[in-house]
Amino acid sequence: MKVKVIIPASGSGERFGSKIPKQFLKIEGKEIIALTLEKFNSIKLIDEIIISTKPEYFVRISTILKKYNLRKVSKIVEGGKRRQDSVYNALITSESEDDDMILVHDAVRPFISKKKIKELIITAMKYKCVIPGLPVAETVKIVDGKNYVTETIDRNNVRTIQTPQVFRFDILRKSFEKAYSEKFTGTDEAAIAENAGYKIKVIDGEKANVKITYREDVF
Ligand code: C5P
Repeated sequence: MKVKVIIPASGSGERFGSKIPKQFLKIEGKEIIALTLEKFNSIKLIDEIIISTKPEYFVRISTILKKYNLRKVSKIVEGGKRRQDSVYNALITSESEDDDMILVHDAVRPFISKKKIKELIITAMKYKCVIPGLPVAETVKIVDGKNYVTETIDRNNVRTIQTPQVFRFDILRKSFEKAYSEKFTGTDEAAIAENAGYKIKVIDGEKANVKITYREDVF
């Protein structure tokens, strides 16, 4: 059994309002994607990292890999239109065995702790599909297209979901194949596995593990 990490990094950062895609912006002098990759690269349990990105970023990423000696990155593959397409391209080129563990982690979540990454991997050995989530403090409501409330959800049963999301390779591959055959789009890998009928275990996420989406998330 090998443990592999897929880093989708094909986003253009439109919501961030910057010309430089947000994964290449620097925090205290280091590119966000370098900070993210360093966490995974330094964990013994992890064998390999695959990055999925736009061809125009290949050189830029290769330079970062050399600069920070990120030796576990084995491949840079072409990303796709949707996040899901970027992840699938990495998955099918990963040459994995059925019982390998695949972690999928957003390039723009550099603050995840190594402790949480290890906990997710170890929990996935038992549950096969594991994701980190946080409880919500606010009341959650569903609204219709005209912004009228249609329902109030019991917030005790709500979690906001983060990455890394961890799955056995065979489960993730079958789930993606089903999604493509049904033209199903999921905003995370768990949604794709749920659509295929798999049970997903949620463990506690980390407040610091934000997805850098808007400028105010970091600067
Ligand atoms: O767009 P979103 O905020 O969901 O992006 C989450 C992660 O997915 C980012 O790391 C982004 O680079 C990546 N992504 C991708 N391919 C896309 C869209 C987003 O790899 N087509």
